[in-house]
Amino acid sequence: MSKDDITVYGAHWCPDCRRSKQFLGEHQIPYNWVNIEEDPEAEQLVIEKNEGKRIIPTIVFSDDTFLVEPTNAELAAKLGLRTKASRSHYDLIILGGGPAGLTAALYTAREAIDTLVIERAAFGGQAAGTEKLDNMPGFPEGVAGIEFSQRLRQQVERFGAELLQAQEVTGIYQHDNYHCVKTNDGSEYSADALLLATGSRYKRLNVRGETDYLGAGVHFCATCDGPLL
Ligand SMILES: Cc1cc2nc3c(=O)[nH]c(=O)nc-3n(C[C@H](O)[C@H](O)[C@H](O)COP(=O)(O)OP(=O)(O)OC[C@H]3O[C@@H](n4cnc5c(N)ncnc54)[C@H](O)[C@@H]3O)c2cc1C
Repeated sequence: MSKDDITVYGAHWCPDCRRSKQFLGEHQIPYNWVNIEEDPEAEQLVIEKNEGKRIIPTIVFSDDTFLVEPTNAELAAKLGLRTKASRSHYDLIILGGGPAGLTAALYTAREAIDTLVIERAAFGGQAAGTEKLDNMPGFPEGVAGIEFSQRLRQQVERFGAELLQAQEVTGIYQHDNYHCVKTNDGSEYSADALLLATGSRYKRLNVRGETDYLGAGVHFCATCDGPLL
């Protein structure tokens, strides 16, 4: 998918525009952003698509279809992300599709352990958002984080693990001998075992510009990208 396949028309003050942009960003999906307050033609296009109303975000796709103020679930469905599992019970459910979760799935699926991985954002976790991984064994020139994540995902799929995206695990509980998880769309799945590979989340200062400058002045890992500053 290229940047030109999706255009998000919105404005900086619009919270639903920010939510849609964040969703696309978290799923590593490229898009064009057009601020209709700085582009009268774009504003006109939005008004035409919405039969005279100026509703944002209006998200236009390369097949000329569009979504207006979509929920994250509607956006995920339009983008063809797999958000529902094919069954309700598995041998193992792995929470988190970062390098740890996917590597675990690689081993379990290979051993014919029926495995479901549930990821709330893009597969690859923090590694997917890293421009270049320099210390991965087998990659003498380093490898882009996104490429590493795609390769890892393909390898896991080859062994038959089932992967869900855009689903946050919102709760876990025990029922008789089963371990159960709830996801944010209201689905529930059970397994003989759960593996928690939810990684870490960095503490934010919540100051203005912090999100805009992530990776370009705002950093969390001194040993990772400190030397590049
Ligand atoms: C900027 C940067 C540069 C880095 N550079 C390097 C490098 O060059 N070399 C290197 O070896 N390491 C590097 N690292 C570290 C490396 O990315 C991490 O060590 C690695 O990603 C940790 O993997 P993980 O699977 O444990 O956790 P994560 O990568 O954090 O993955 C956890 C996953 O779980 C998901 N998740 C969390 N909660 C839920 C939930 N409730 N429901 C569903 N899913 C959930 C998250 O969305 C995430 O995808 C870097 C990290 C950063 C931030």
